[in-house]
Amino acid sequence: MSVTVRFAPSPTGNIHIGNARTALFNWLFALKNGGAFILRFDDTDVERSKDEYARQIAEDLDWLGIKPAQTAKQSERFAIYHAAAQTLREAGLLYACYETAEELELRRKIQLSRRLPPVYDRAALKLTEEQKAEYAAEGRKPHWRFLLPNFDADPFVVARHVVEWDDVVRGPQTVDLGSLSDPVLIREDGTYLYTLPSVVDDIDMGVTHIIRGDDHVTNTGVQIAIFEALAGKGQAPKFGHHNLITTTSGEGLSKRSGALSIKSLREEGVEPMAVASLASLIGTSSAVEAKPDMATLAAQFTPDSSAKSSSKFDPEELWVLNKELVHNLSYEAVQPRLTRLGIAGGKTENFWELIRGNLSRVDEAADWWGIVTRGPDKTESLDGQDVAFVREAFDHLPPEPWSRETWKTWTDVVKKTSGRKGRQLFMPLRIALTGRSSGPELADLLPLLGREETLARRP
Ligand code: GLU
Repeated sequence: MSVTVRFAPSPTGNIHIGNARTALFNWLFALKNGGAFILRFDDTDVERSKDEYARQIAEDLDWLGIKPAQTAKQSERFAIYHAAAQTLREAGLLYACYETAEELELRRKIQLSRRLPPVYDRAALKLTEEQKAEYAAEGRKPHWRFLLPNFDADPFVVARHVVEWDDVVRGPQTVDLGSLSDPVLIREDGTYLYTLPSVVDDIDMGVTHIIRGDDHVTNTGVQIAIFEALAGKGQAPKFGHHNLITTTSGEGLSKRSGALSIKSLREEGVEPMAVASLASLIGTSSAVEAKPDMATLAAQFTPDSSAKSSSKFDPEELWVLNKELVHNLSYEAVQPRLTRLGIAGGKTENFWELIRGNLSRVDEAADWWGIVTRGPDKTESLDGQDVAFVREAFDHLPPEPWSRETWKTWTDVVKKTSGRKGRQLFMPLRIALTGRSSGPELADLLPLLGREETLARRP
């Protein structure tokens, strides 16, 4: 069976690491199965949806390395939702309700006080055509509910009706439709809640697997019933529900708050594969490791290794993975980015090899490039004795040609002449050469600088 998945964000804010998890689960599943990935904007809520967010989401996915085969917007597809709603109405499965929010709330309270489940009692199903006409004459507009298949013959005698599916993430799942209210699919103002358009599109686009957060498990019970009403028994796609990501203090992430947005992580200099590795591997039984590319991540991706409970996201972990990735980035891979940072010219490859092991972010290379090509930008202070020591040490610099061995040749001499050793010997030299107390291997730095550049750093 060919696989088609979709990621269906509502463009009401920037996507965060939790949304990225959903996108990645779908993308990796598609990659692993040779399938197609659709990006579909759930933007039927025209008030809250914004084009700029849709653009940013598309950009964020592209940066992460997710390449949709197709991009669609629900706001351009209302005609097929109207048609599907009409099909359901004609089948008697979508019915008009006139209760106000206050009336519904009051009924709910009464049910709760009687220790009854707060489920909609289908009172609107009893309305006669005359009563509906009266409401219409009063200017009342209906909202529309889907009649759940949770009864045998009489919709007022609700029975246990279990929907089952084999979840690609969680294994066998059940939802009892007998315990749910008929869901509202269309509001009074004619706008659609996400439930129906999502099913209509999934059918229309041939989606084979719906992979999303486990906050949708109950929806899935309802949506399977809608799939079957529109497409026929047994025609629902397969489902997978992954666990959600929370902050370290256990709060849910919100698109609107901008917390841990992909855009901000990117601006902070995080590598896309650090985000992709962490967002897809935390909360699973696989080890959280920095994977160099999507193909490697996909090869090891097993959706059913995801835990049942939510997992905490710690940005510190992201930086650990980031460092690992940066330290292993090849010159070929990083070269265009170095050029953009102004790092160009003959010795850039050697420079990258020298410096990558010291970086947390690629853009930190720019500071080191300045240090290597122009000299220390800020000098940690050397006390008077150290200055005298360094000056004398520089008098013993060996002649060129210089290689990796030069450092040892030089410091062997300096050791003898100064009587210093260990940190007392190396640290003042390091500070004189780089202005910093930590950094790259000095044995590698010397040949990169050459004798003249090195001498120019004599205090
Ligand atoms: N727009 C929905 C959400 O972001 C999509 C859910 C789904 O994938 O069906 O939660």
